[in-house]
Amino acid sequence: MARIINIFKQINFKQLRFSKQRCHLCNWTLQIKLCDDEMGIRCTRCGASAVSQSLAQVFKKSTQSDHPLKVYELSSTGPFVKYLLASHHHVTLSELIDDVPLGEYVNGVICQDVQNLTYKDETFDVCTSSEVFEHVENDTRGFREIYRVLKPAGKLIFTVPIALNSTTIERTRLINGQREQILPAEYHSDKLKGVGKVFCYRNYGFDILQRLQSVGFSYTTIVIPDKNELFGLGRPVIYAEK
Ligand SMILES: [Zn+2]
Repeated sequence: MARIINIFKQINFKQLRFSKQRCHLCNWTLQIKLCDDEMGIRCTRCGASAVSQSLAQVFKKSTQSDHPLKVYELSSTGPFVKYLLASHHHVTLSELIDDVPLGEYVNGVICQDVQNLTYKDETFDVCTSSEVFEHVENDTRGFREIYRVLKPAGKLIFTVPIALNSTTIERTRLINGQREQILPAEYHSDKLKGVGKVFCYRNYGFDILQRLQSVGFSYTTIVIPDKNELFGLGRPVIYAEK
C-alpha cells in the first residue's frame, strides 16, 4: 500500500508517459514515466527505476561468463537485488546496520562497513552498489576494500549521483579530527533507513575515476546511458576492473 501511495505522490500528469521498451531486469515491456526524474521511471512489473535499469544493463553486458560468478551487492532490498538473486547462485548481500558488530547477521543480512570489510582477499568476481559511496565517509578507503576483496580481473559496477561536467565537491572536511560542513548538510533517502535519513558526504564528478585508479583499478570508465532508452533519463554507470 505504501508503495502505491508513493507512486501516486510522484505523478506529474503533464509528464506522465508510457513506453514499450524492455525492462533490463525482468524483461517486461511496459515502462511508465511518472515525472521527469530518473526515480520517476519505473518498470510496471518489477518496479525498477531508471537507476536500477542502467546498472543492470551494464552489469549484464560485462558479466557474461561460463562459470558461476560470486557477486557482492552492498544492499539487501529492491528490484536489482531481486534480479541478482534470481539470476545468480552466489550472491552476498550486506547492509551497514547501526549498533550491530561487523560480520554479524540480522534477519539473514550481514552487517558490513565498506571501509572495513570482513571478507578475505580475492573473494568476489563482481561487486555492485547503487547510491552508496556518496554516503561513505572515506570513499577511497571503501574503494580500496572493494579492490582487495575482488578476485584478479574482478569488477566493481555501481551508480552514484554524478555531474559529468564537474569535479567532485566534498561537502565536509576534517579539521583536527573533527568533521565540519563546508556546504549545508545534505541527506538522502534509503529503503531501510527512511526518507531524508542518510548523510551525504559529497557530490561526485568525473574525477571519481581517479579515486578508483588511485587504489589500483587498472581499467575505469563511465558508461553513458543511451538517450533513446529510459525516456532519456538513464544514469551513468561507473565501471572499474581490477
Ligand atoms: Zn522490470
